Amino acid sequence: MQTTIRVAVIGGGVVGCSVLYHLTKLGWSDVMLLERSELTSGSSWHAAGGFHTLNGDTNMAALQGYTIGLYRELEKITGMSCGLHQTGGLTLAETQDRFDYMLAERGKHRHMGLNTEILGPAEIKERCPITNIDGVVGALWDPLDGHLDPSGTTHAYAKAARMGGATIHTHTKVIETNPRPDGTWDVVTDKGTVHAEHVVNAGGLWAREVAAMAGLYLPLMPMEHHYIVTDDIPEIYERETEHPHVVDPAGESYLRQEGRGLCIGFYEKKPRAWAVDGTRWDFGHELLPDDLDKIADSIAFSYERFPVLQTAGVKSVIHGPFTFAPDGNPLVGPVPGLRNYWSACAVMAGFSQGGGVGLMLAQWMIEGECERDTSAMDVARYGSWTTAGYTLPKVMENYRTRFSVSYPNEEKPAARPFRTTPMYDIFDQMGAVWGQQFGLEVPNYFAEGDEPRYETPSFRRSNAFAATAREVAAVREGVGFNEVQNFGKYSVTGPGARAWLDRLMAGRVPAPGRISLTPMLSRSGRIIGDFTISCLAEGDFRLTASYGAQGYHMRWFETHAEEGVRVENISDRSTGFQIAGPRAAELLQGCTRADISRLRFLDVARMTVGMADCIVQRVSYTGDLGYEIYCDPMAQRALWQVLWQAGQPLGLKPFGMRAMMSLRMDRLFGSWLREYGPDYTPGETGLDRFIQWSKPVDFIGRTAAEAERKQGTARKLIGLKIDAADSDIHGDEPIWLNGEVMGFCTSGSYSHHLGQSLAHGFLPTEVARPGTEVEVEILGQMRKAVTITETDFDPEARRMRG
Ligand SMILES: Cc1cc2nc3c(=O)[nH]c(=O)nc-3n(C[C@H](O)[C@H](O)[C@H](O)COP(=O)(O)OP(=O)(O)OC[C@H]3O[C@@H](n4cnc5c(N)ncnc54)[C@H](O)[C@@H]3O)c2cc1C
Repeated sequence: MQTTIRVAVIGGGVVGCSVLYHLTKLGWSDVMLLERSELTSGSSWHAAGGFHTLNGDTNMAALQGYTIGLYRELEKITGMSCGLHQTGGLTLAETQDRFDYMLAERGKHRHMGLNTEILGPAEIKERCPITNIDGVVGALWDPLDGHLDPSGTTHAYAKAARMGGATIHTHTKVIETNPRPDGTWDVVTDKGTVHAEHVVNAGGLWAREVAAMAGLYLPLMPMEHHYIVTDDIPEIYERETEHPHVVDPAGESYLRQEGRGLCIGFYEKKPRAWAVDGTRWDFGHELLPDDLDKIADSIAFSYERFPVLQTAGVKSVIHGPFTFAPDGNPLVGPVPGLRNYWSACAVMAGFSQGGGVGLMLAQWMIEGECERDTSAMDVARYGSWTTAGYTLPKVMENYRTRFSVSYPNEEKPAARPFRTTPMYDIFDQMGAVWGQQFGLEVPNYFAEGDEPRYETPSFRRSNAFAATAREVAAVREGVGFNEVQNFGKYSVTGPGARAWLDRLMAGRVPAPGRISLTPMLSRSGRIIGDFTISCLAEGDFRLTASYGAQGYHMRWFETHAEEGVRVENISDRSTGFQIAGPRAAELLQGCTRADISRLRFLDVARMTVGMADCIVQRVSYTGDLGYEIYCDPMAQRALWQVLWQAGQPLGLKPFGMRAMMSLRMDRLFGSWLREYGPDYTPGETGLDRFIQWSKPVDFIGRTAAEAERKQGTARKLIGLKIDAADSDIHGDEPIWLNGEVMGFCTSGSYSHHLGQSLAHGFLPTEVARPGTEVEVEILGQMRKAVTITETDFDPEARRMRG
C-alpha cells in the first residue's frame, strides 16, 4: 500500500466510488479508496436501485439528472453493465394540493430543460394499467426514471476510477484519522498508515463513527427500510414493454418491475431508526429481520392502489438500513472547523444522487468551488448547535414524509422548539406562528383573535394572508418591529481588519461611523455573500448576512484567515430588534438620550437605548425608515420593554418574516439564495453597482468580475408585476415570451401595500428592460406579467433615506 497519497477516500459504497471516479475524471490520479470489507458492504448492495430526478431543490434535481446521464458514460468507459432499465416513471397526485406540487415541478423542469409531462387519469391508466385511478387527479411523468443494478454500478465507478489511476484497497479498515499541524492527515488503517493531503468521509452506515475519529459530529441517522419483491405477475410479464416506475405519495410507496414481477418499497408512517447509538463494526453484508407489521398499513394501502398485489406471492423481502440527514439531502463539502476534511455522507438516494455528489465534491477539492450552488447539500448548512437529540426526530420526520408534498410555506414540526431567543414566550403570547431558520424559532406572522396558530401549507395564498396584510400596514402607516436574531453576525477586529475586508469583499469598506453593502465573490466571480459592513471604529467592524449561511461564511473566513485579524461569529451573541415605518425615528428617540436626527441613512452608532448598550444601524430591508438595534441577549428583554412601552401611543406592532418578504418586494430588494447566491454573478443580478472598482485592491473575484463587466452578461435579474390569481411566485416558475420559455422567477410575494403580485426573475439581457410583456406559468396557468425596475412605492427612496 502506498504510504503517501493526495486523497484518501474512506468507504467503498456507491458514493465513495463515485467520488474516487470524479477525482480521477477531473485530473487527480494520486487518490486511494480504503474499504474495510468488500465494495458495496454498507447500504449499497441491497438498494432497490431506483433513480429519478424529482427534488424540491433545483440544483439537487439537476445533479440527479447528471447522475442518471452518467451511467451510459460509465458503461462506455468500462465496458461493464450498470444493468440500466430506463422505463420512465410517474408520481401520482390524488389531491389538488399534490397536483399543484406536480404542476409547480413541471414548471420548474421547463427552464431546467427536463422533459417531464403532466398526465390525466386516462393517460395514467394507459401507461400504467395496474393502477387503480379512483380519486387520482393526475400525475407527473418523468422519462428519465428507472432502475439499475446497484452492485454492478458501484463496481463500474470503481473500475472507471482505477482506469484513471486510482487505487482501491478492500479489507482495509480505517481506525484513526489524525490531523497534522500542516493540515494533512495520518489515516491509520489495520494494514498501516497512509499520509494523505485530504480525507473524504464516505463511510455511509459508519459515517458517524468515521467522523468521530476526527472529533466530529455529523447529523445523520440510519433508518430501517423495507421493500418487497413479488413472484411473477401475468399483468407484468405479459406486457410488451417494461412497466414504468410509480411513486404513490398517498401511500408513501414506490413500485417498479423486477424480473417478471414487481418490487414495491415503503416509507411507512411509523418508521424506525437503526443503530441509534452507533453502527457496530461487525455489521456486514447483512439484512435486518423482516418486520412486516411495521409496514402493514402501507401494504394495505398499496393493495387498493395496485390490486394485482393482492394475489401476488412474495418472492423476497429486503429490510436494510441507510442514512439520512435531518432534511434528507446529503452532507457534502469541506467540514467547517477542519482542514482538508471532506464529507460525502448521508446520501440517502445514492443511485439518484451519487454521481452529482461525486462531481461536486471533486470540483470543490480540485477547483476550489463547484460549478453550481450546492447550498442544499452543503455540510455547513448545519451548525455546531446540531445534536444527536435533534437529528433523530428530524430524520424520522423526513423519512415519514419522504414522498409527501414539499410546500413552499411549510414548517415541519419535529424537534421544535429547539433554539429560542429571550423573546420566545413574549412573541408566543402575542400569537406568533413560528418558522425555523438554522434551528432557530422565528415568527412568520402573528395570529390575532381566533385566527388559527398554524399556517396551512399550500402553493396558493395561505391563511397567513390577512395577518401579513395587517403587519405590512402597521409598518407602512406607523411602526413595526421584529427581531434581528436571524442575521449571521460577525465581528472583524484588529489592525489588519480593513485590508482583510478589502480583499474579501468586492465593495467599499466603510469609514468609521458608516455602513456599506457589498457582495462577496468567489474566485470565479460568483456571489458567495451579500454583506452589510458597519465600521464602529478603525479596526472594529461588524458584518451581517444570512443567518443560515453562518457555517458557509465562517468556513470561507477561516480559509482566508490572516495574522492581525480576528474574525468571530457573534450571530447568537448579538441580538435585538429592527424597527421600521414612518414613526420609527420617533419611537427610537423616545427610548434614548442620543440625538437620533443626527443618524443619517447608512450611519452606525453606539448608544444606550433604555438601559441597554446598543449598536444602532440606520438601514432598512423593508424599504421604509428603519433602524437595527443590536444588544447583548441578556439585555434583550429590557430593550423590548422600553421599545414596547414607548411604542404604544405610536401603534407599534410586531411583524414576521411573511410581512418582511412582502415589504422588501415594494422596493424589489433581492434576498440570499433566491436572487443572490453562487449560481449568479454581480453583473447578472445588479450587485455590480456595489463593487468598488476604483479600490486599488485585488479583491477575490476581481479578475472574473472585471471580465464580466467588459463582456456584459447574457441574462439579467429584473422585477415583474404579475397578474396573479390566488398564488404568488415562490421561485423557479418559467417566464414565457412569444411562446418560448425565456427565463425563470427567483422569488416573489404579494405586495400588500401596493395590492400587486411582484417577483424577481432572470431574462435574456436584450429583453430584461422595463415594459417587456411576458407570461409567467404559475401552477400550470399562464399569467400575464410585465417587467419593471421600480414599483410605485417610493421610487426615490425618500422614506428609507430621508
Ligand atoms: C432497502 C434499501 C433500498 C434502497 N433503495 C434505493 C433506491 O432504490 N435508490 C437509491 O438511490 N438508493 C436506495 N437506497 C439507498 C442507497 O442504498 C444509499 O443511498 C447508498 O447505498 C449510500 O451509499 P454510501 O456509499 O454512502 O454508503 P454505504 O453503501 O453504506 O457505503 C459505505 C462504505 O464505507 C465502508 N466503511 C465504513 N467505515 C469504514 C472504515 N472505517 N474503513 C473503511 N471502510 C469503511 C463500509 O464498509 C461501506 O462499504 C436504498 C437503501 C436501502 C437500505
